[in-house]
Amino acid sequence: TKFSDLGLSEPILHALTNKGYDTPTPIQAQAIPPLLQGRDLCGIAQTGTGKTAAFALPSLMRLTDSGRNRPPGGCRMLVLSPTRELASQIAESFRDYGRQLKLTVATVFGGVPIGRQIKQMQQGVDILVATPGRLLDLIDQRALRLANVEIFVLDEADQMLDLGFIHALKRIDKLLPAKRQSLFFSATMPKTIAELGDRFLTDPVKVSV
Ligand code: AMP
Repeated sequence: TKFSDLGLSEPILHALTNKGYDTPTPIQAQAIPPLLQGRDLCGIAQTGTGKTAAFALPSLMRLTDSGRNRPPGGCRMLVLSPTRELASQIAESFRDYGRQLKLTVATVFGGVPIGRQIKQMQQGVDILVATPGRLLDLIDQRALRLANVEIFVLDEADQMLDLGFIHALKRIDKLLPAKRQSLFFSATMPKTIAELGDRFLTDPVKVSV
Protein backbone atom coordinates (compact mmCIF):
# COMPACT_ATOMS: atom_id res chain seq x y z
CA THR A 1 0.00 0.00 0.00
CA LYS A 2 1.12 3.55 -0.72
CA PHE A 3 -0.24 6.74 0.84
CA SER A 4 -1.65 7.69 -2.55
CA ASP A 5 -3.86 4.54 -2.48
CA LEU A 6 -5.61 5.58 0.74
CA GLY A 7 -7.74 8.45 -0.56
CA LEU A 8 -5.74 11.33 0.92
CA SER A 9 -5.70 14.75 -0.74
CA GLU A 10 -2.79 16.36 -2.62
CA PRO A 11 -1.72 18.84 0.13
CA ILE A 12 -1.52 16.01 2.64
CA LEU A 13 0.37 13.70 0.27
CA HIS A 14 2.75 16.60 -0.34
CA ALA A 15 3.34 17.04 3.41
CA LEU A 16 4.10 13.31 3.70
CA THR A 17 6.60 13.48 0.83
CA ASN A 18 8.27 16.43 2.58
CA LYS A 19 8.58 14.35 5.75
CA GLY A 20 10.14 11.55 3.71
CA TYR A 21 7.32 9.07 4.42
CA ASP A 22 6.40 6.93 1.43
CA THR A 23 4.83 3.84 2.97
CA PRO A 24 1.97 3.86 5.48
CA THR A 25 2.58 1.91 8.69
CA PRO A 26 0.11 -0.97 9.37
CA ILE A 27 -2.13 1.15 11.60
CA GLN A 28 -2.19 3.90 9.00
CA ALA A 29 -3.11 1.48 6.19
CA GLN A 30 -5.91 -0.04 8.30
CA ALA A 31 -7.28 3.09 9.94
CA ILE A 32 -7.15 5.81 7.29
CA PRO A 33 -9.77 4.46 4.81
CA PRO A 34 -12.56 3.89 7.39
CA LEU A 35 -11.73 7.15 9.16
CA LEU A 36 -12.07 9.04 5.87
CA GLN A 37 -15.56 7.52 5.59
CA GLY A 38 -16.42 8.94 9.00
CA ARG A 39 -16.41 5.66 10.93
CA ASP A 40 -15.56 5.46 14.65
CA LEU A 41 -12.38 3.58 15.49
CA CYS A 42 -11.06 1.60 18.44
CA GLY A 43 -7.31 1.05 18.12
CA ILE A 44 -4.95 -1.06 20.18
CA ALA A 45 -1.61 0.52 19.39
CA GLN A 46 1.51 1.69 21.16
CA THR A 47 3.39 4.92 20.60
CA GLY A 48 5.88 4.49 17.76
CA THR A 49 3.44 2.69 15.44
CA GLY A 50 2.55 5.86 13.55
CA LYS A 51 -0.85 6.21 15.24
CA THR A 52 -0.66 10.00 15.42
CA ALA A 53 -0.59 10.29 11.62
CA ALA A 54 -3.22 7.53 11.42
CA PHE A 55 -5.73 9.84 13.12
CA ALA A 56 -4.30 13.22 12.08
CA LEU A 57 -4.25 12.69 8.31
CA PRO A 58 -7.90 11.67 7.72
CA SER A 59 -9.10 14.21 10.29
CA LEU A 60 -7.26 17.06 8.55
CA MET A 61 -8.97 16.03 5.32
CA ARG A 62 -12.44 15.80 6.81
CA LEU A 63 -12.13 19.13 8.59
CA THR A 64 -11.01 20.77 5.34
CA ASP A 65 -13.77 19.15 3.27
CA SER A 66 -16.63 19.96 5.63
CA GLY A 67 -15.89 23.66 5.02
CA ARG A 68 -17.09 24.83 8.42
CA ASN A 69 -15.41 27.69 10.27
CA ARG A 70 -13.75 27.57 13.66
CA PRO A 71 -16.43 28.31 16.25
CA PRO A 72 -15.70 31.20 18.65
CA GLY A 73 -15.34 29.73 22.15
CA GLY A 74 -15.14 26.23 20.71
CA CYS A 75 -13.26 23.74 18.57
CA ARG A 76 -14.09 21.37 15.70
CA MET A 77 -11.74 18.59 16.71
CA LEU A 78 -10.75 17.65 20.25
CA VAL A 79 -7.79 15.38 20.97
CA LEU A 80 -7.34 14.35 24.60
CA SER A 81 -3.87 13.36 25.71
CA PRO A 82 -2.77 12.23 29.19
CA THR A 83 0.39 14.39 29.36
CA ARG A 84 1.53 17.80 28.21
CA GLU A 85 4.54 16.29 26.41
CA LEU A 86 2.35 14.02 24.30
CA ALA A 87 -0.15 16.85 23.71
CA SER A 88 2.65 19.06 22.37
CA GLN A 89 3.91 16.29 20.08
CA ILE A 90 0.44 15.62 18.70
CA ALA A 91 -0.15 19.33 18.04
CA GLU A 92 3.21 19.54 16.28
CA SER A 93 2.24 16.62 14.03
CA PHE A 94 -1.05 18.33 13.08
CA ARG A 95 0.82 21.54 12.23
CA ASP A 96 3.35 19.59 10.21
CA TYR A 97 0.89 17.52 8.18
CA GLY A 98 -1.54 20.41 7.80
CA ARG A 99 1.05 22.98 6.76
CA GLN A 100 -0.73 23.71 3.46
CA LEU A 101 -4.21 23.75 5.00
CA LYS A 102 -5.81 26.73 6.70
CA LEU A 103 -6.61 25.04 9.99
CA THR A 104 -5.66 26.37 13.41
CA VAL A 105 -4.14 24.10 16.05
CA ALA A 106 -3.99 24.93 19.77
CA THR A 107 -2.64 23.05 22.78
CA VAL A 108 -3.91 23.48 26.33
CA PHE A 109 -2.52 21.81 29.43
CA GLY A 110 -2.07 22.60 33.09
CA GLY A 111 0.99 23.97 34.87
CA VAL A 112 1.01 27.17 32.81
CA PRO A 113 -1.12 30.34 33.23
CA ILE A 114 -4.68 29.88 31.95
CA GLY A 115 -5.20 33.50 30.80
CA ARG A 116 -3.57 33.13 27.40
CA GLN A 117 -5.45 29.89 26.80
CA ILE A 118 -8.75 31.61 27.61
CA LYS A 119 -8.00 34.33 25.01
CA GLN A 120 -7.03 31.69 22.46
CA MET A 121 -10.32 29.83 22.99
CA GLN A 122 -12.34 33.03 22.46
CA GLN A 123 -11.07 33.17 18.87
CA GLY A 124 -12.03 29.53 18.37
CA VAL A 125 -9.74 26.82 17.02
CA ASP A 126 -10.10 24.04 14.48
CA ILE A 127 -8.01 21.44 16.30
CA LEU A 128 -7.59 21.51 20.08
CA VAL A 129 -5.16 19.13 21.79
CA ALA A 130 -5.75 19.10 25.53
CA THR A 131 -5.13 17.32 28.78
CA PRO A 132 -8.42 16.52 30.58
CA GLY A 133 -7.92 18.64 33.73
CA ARG A 134 -7.14 21.92 31.98
CA LEU A 135 -9.85 21.28 29.41
CA LEU A 136 -12.44 21.08 32.20
CA ASP A 137 -10.98 24.21 33.86
CA LEU A 138 -11.54 26.12 30.62
CA ILE A 139 -15.08 24.76 30.34
CA ASP A 140 -15.84 25.64 33.99
CA GLN A 141 -14.56 29.17 33.38
CA ARG A 142 -16.97 29.43 30.42
CA ALA A 143 -14.07 29.95 28.03
CA LEU A 144 -14.81 26.83 26.00
CA ARG A 145 -17.78 24.74 24.89
CA LEU A 146 -17.66 21.34 23.21
CA ALA A 147 -20.93 21.66 21.29
CA ASN A 148 -19.16 22.06 17.92
CA VAL A 149 -16.85 19.04 18.17
CA GLU A 150 -17.02 17.06 14.90
CA ILE A 151 -14.15 14.69 15.68
CA PHE A 152 -13.11 13.45 19.13
CA VAL A 153 -9.92 11.47 19.85
CA LEU A 154 -9.05 9.87 23.17
CA ASP A 155 -5.38 8.90 23.00
CA GLU A 156 -3.52 6.60 25.43
CA ALA A 157 -6.66 5.59 27.32
CA ASP A 158 -4.72 3.21 29.58
CA GLN A 159 -2.42 6.04 30.73
CA MET A 160 -5.47 8.26 31.26
CA LEU A 161 -6.89 5.76 33.73
CA ASP A 162 -3.51 5.26 35.45
CA LEU A 163 -3.30 9.01 35.96
CA GLY A 164 -6.77 9.10 37.57
CA PHE A 165 -8.63 10.88 34.77
CA ILE A 166 -11.67 8.58 34.78
CA HIS A 167 -14.08 11.12 36.31
CA ALA A 168 -12.81 13.89 34.06
CA LEU A 169 -13.36 11.65 31.00
CA LYS A 170 -16.91 10.80 32.06
CA ARG A 171 -17.67 14.51 32.47
CA ILE A 172 -16.20 15.33 29.09
CA ASP A 173 -18.21 12.51 27.48
CA LYS A 174 -21.44 14.16 28.69
CA LEU A 175 -20.43 17.53 27.20
CA LEU A 176 -19.67 16.22 23.71
CA PRO A 177 -22.36 16.36 21.03
CA ALA A 178 -23.93 12.99 20.23
CA LYS A 179 -23.35 13.41 16.50
CA ARG A 180 -19.58 13.21 16.03
CA GLN A 181 -16.80 10.88 14.95
CA SER A 182 -14.92 9.26 17.84
CA LEU A 183 -11.52 7.57 17.95
CA PHE A 184 -10.21 5.69 20.95
CA PHE A 185 -6.62 4.44 21.34
CA SER A 186 -4.95 2.40 24.03
CA ALA A 187 -1.76 0.31 24.22
CA THR A 188 -3.74 -2.37 26.09
CA MET A 189 -7.46 -3.17 26.17
CA PRO A 190 -8.46 -4.84 29.45
CA LYS A 191 -12.17 -4.84 30.36
CA THR A 192 -12.18 -1.48 32.21
CA ILE A 193 -10.66 0.27 29.23
CA ALA A 194 -12.92 -1.45 26.70
CA GLU A 195 -15.90 -0.32 28.80
CA LEU A 196 -14.64 3.24 28.78
CA GLY A 197 -14.31 2.98 25.00
CA ASP A 198 -17.93 1.80 24.72
CA ARG A 199 -19.08 5.11 26.21
CA PHE A 200 -17.49 7.09 23.43
CA LEU A 201 -17.76 4.84 20.38
CA THR A 202 -20.58 3.87 18.03
CA ASP A 203 -20.11 0.71 15.95
CA PRO A 204 -16.33 1.22 15.79
CA VAL A 205 -13.89 -0.33 13.34
CA LYS A 206 -11.39 -2.27 15.45
CA VAL A 207 -7.70 -2.13 14.64
CA SER A 208 -4.90 -3.86 16.51
CA VAL A 209 -1.23 -3.55 15.63
P1 AMP B 1 3.70 7.82 16.59
O1 AMP B 1 3.43 6.38 16.82
O2 AMP B 1 2.53 8.54 16.05
O3 AMP B 1 4.27 8.49 17.83
O4 AMP B 1 4.82 7.94 15.44
C1 AMP B 1 6.10 7.40 15.63
C2 AMP B 1 7.14 8.04 14.70
O5 AMP B 1 7.05 7.50 13.38
C3 AMP B 1 7.02 9.54 14.57
O6 AMP B 1 8.31 10.12 14.69
C4 AMP B 1 6.47 9.75 13.18
O7 AMP B 1 6.92 10.97 12.66
C5 AMP B 1 7.02 8.56 12.42
N1 AMP B 1 6.14 8.10 11.31
C6 AMP B 1 4.79 8.07 11.30
N2 AMP B 1 4.31 7.56 10.17
C7 AMP B 1 5.38 7.19 9.43
C8 AMP B 1 5.53 6.58 8.12
N3 AMP B 1 4.48 6.21 7.39
N4 AMP B 1 6.78 6.36 7.66
C9 AMP B 1 7.84 6.72 8.43
N5 AMP B 1 7.78 7.30 9.64
C10 AMP B 1 6.56 7.54 10.15
